[in-house]
This record gives sequence, C-alpha cells and structure tokens, in this order.
Amino acid sequence: MSKITLAIHGGAGTILKSMLTPELEQKYNEGLQNALNAGYSVLENRGTSMDAVIAAIRSLEDNELFNAGRGSVFTKKGINEMDAAVMDGSNLNAGAVAGVRNIKNPIVLAKEIMEHSGHVILSGNGAKEFALSRGIEQAPDEYFYTKYRYDQWIEIRDSDYYQLDHMEDNLKGMPHEEKKFGTVGAVALDINGHMAAGTSTGGMTNKRYGRIGDSPIPGSGTYANDATCAISCTGHGEYFLRAVVAYDVSCLMEYKGLSLKEACHVVVKEKLVKLGGEGGLIAIDTKGNYEHCFNSEGMYRGIRTSDGENNVAIYKD
Ligand code: ASP
Repeated sequence: MSKITLAIHGGAGTILKSMLTPELEQKYNEGLQNALNAGYSVLENRGTSMDAVIAAIRSLEDNELFNAGRGSVFTKKGINEMDAAVMDGSNLNAGAVAGVRNIKNPIVLAKEIMEHSGHVILSGNGAKEFALSRGIEQAPDEYFYTKYRYDQWIEIRDSDYYQLDHMEDNLKGMPHEEKKFGTVGAVALDINGHMAAGTSTGGMTNKRYGRIGDSPIPGSGTYANDATCAISCTGHGEYFLRAVVAYDVSCLMEYKGLSLKEACHVVVKEKLVKLGGEGGLIAIDTKGNYEHCFNSEGMYRGIRTSDGENNVAIYKD
C-alpha cells in the first residue's frame, strides 16, 4: 500500500500580498482547499490517481477565480479557447485538447480523448465534434463570461500585447514587466503507487486565434511516469514549450539520478530563468515526495497527503 498524495496549483506569477484583499485571499484559499478535498476523497476511497486529478481540476475549472473552464480568459477575438491535458504514469497514456470552445470541463474531454479517440491531441472544432459524439457536457458563451476577465481583455484588445493572468491593474498591457499566470493543475499518487498529472487553462488574455500553450502538450506542461514523477506546469507557455519543462524534470531523474527536488530546482530555478521563462510547477514522485517549485513571486498551491499534511498557500515562503 502506497502513501497517497495530491498536489494542486491554480497558477503562478507576480502574486503579492498587497494585491489581494483579505476577502479575495480567503476565496482563493477556499477554492484551493475545495479542490484538494475533491481530489483527496477519491484517493482516500481507493480511487485512481487519474480520477483524483480529474476531480481536483474539475473543481478548479468550475471556480471562476481560476483561469480554466468557467474563469477562462478572453482571446484577441473576445472568445474563450481552452487547452487541457492528462497523463497516466502507469502506462504513459495521454490525452489532450487544444483551442476548444464551449466545453464545460476541458479536463474531462482530455481524459475522454485519451480513452476513446485513438489519438493523443484533438483541437478546435474536431475536438468539439468528438466531445459532442461522446456526450461531454457543453456550456454556452455566457457561462464563460466573467466581468473581471472581460475587463482585462478590453484594456488590451487593441494592442499586440497578450497578457498572462491576474496582472496588476496599473500594469495591464505590459506583459514583460509584471506577470501572473492562471491555469490549474493537479498531480496525484494513489494507494497502488500509480501517478497521474493534469493541467487545464484558458491560456493568455488577448492571445492570438489558434495559439496553443504548453499545458496540453505532454512533456511540456503536463507529464507523468511512474518511473520518475508526475508534473503540472504553469507559466509563460512559449518558454515552457521550448524548455520541454515537465519531461526535462523526468529526464534529470531518470538519466542523471537527481532527486525530485534537485531536478525541479535545475529546471525551474536555473534553466527556465536563463531562458527568461517565468512560472512554476507542482511535482510528486512514487515515494510521495512533492515539490511546489516556482521562480515567480507566488503560486496558488495546495498539498494533501496521507501523512496528515493539508495546506494551501499563495505567496513565496
Ligand atoms: N502556461 C499557460 C499558457 O501558456 C498559462 C498559464 O500557466 O497561466 O497557456
């Protein structure tokens, strides 16, 4: 019987205490705790790491505070296009969806693609058509409308800027100065010692039509392999894609014998920093070790384990 562990994130970036009111901070903490509880109850009931990841991410996708599912940001065209992926560490199966619209829980569609499409990634209308054929829940445009996200977009829609999530008001439209990232993710280790990872995002405000980030790309934003680790990333996707971040952590463990902590440190605090890639990741291994590793000011995050840990946090320690 394995130790059980669930780690989650709700995005990383320039998240400073001065930027959140106590009420908003409490809402974020509650959202994170609810997601931890949803995923952990699956693990406690001897469920699989994959089902725990789905339960935790669904909860975050349904919460409009986070940039995924319901709270997704707006693209340059003023619509919501979402990316999501899951990966099963026990067999290296993966499923992902890119640039999809009107799907209530893109993470559920990613799992469906893994299990029933015969492919790994489906995008846009093809993904939507597959979702319809499988009875995946749809939602109208209004469901994805949140005033906060809409206003974020209105501020920069006439510029060429694209913006990472939760930017400070006075810095809107200055993507290289102050950055915050949305996106949600979960990694889990179940009672049978298997791991899974999942990530879901609305991407970046004012992103170009058809832009795909790192989140739905196995090996970049999402990766799981029982031989090494399970990882979900959040940050400036263009850099995470080029650095193949999640797989790089796994490779450092597999080929160089680094510990989870060492591998995360090298990739997030050294390699990504050198490249200029801001953000972070959550990671676990089969021993139940976990890392919340980020090179930004903060990361919405949570951890719950069978050793009794049950914490959520936002800012740098
Ligand atoms: N990595 C995501 C993307 O580039 C954004 C994020 O993590 O907030 O689409």
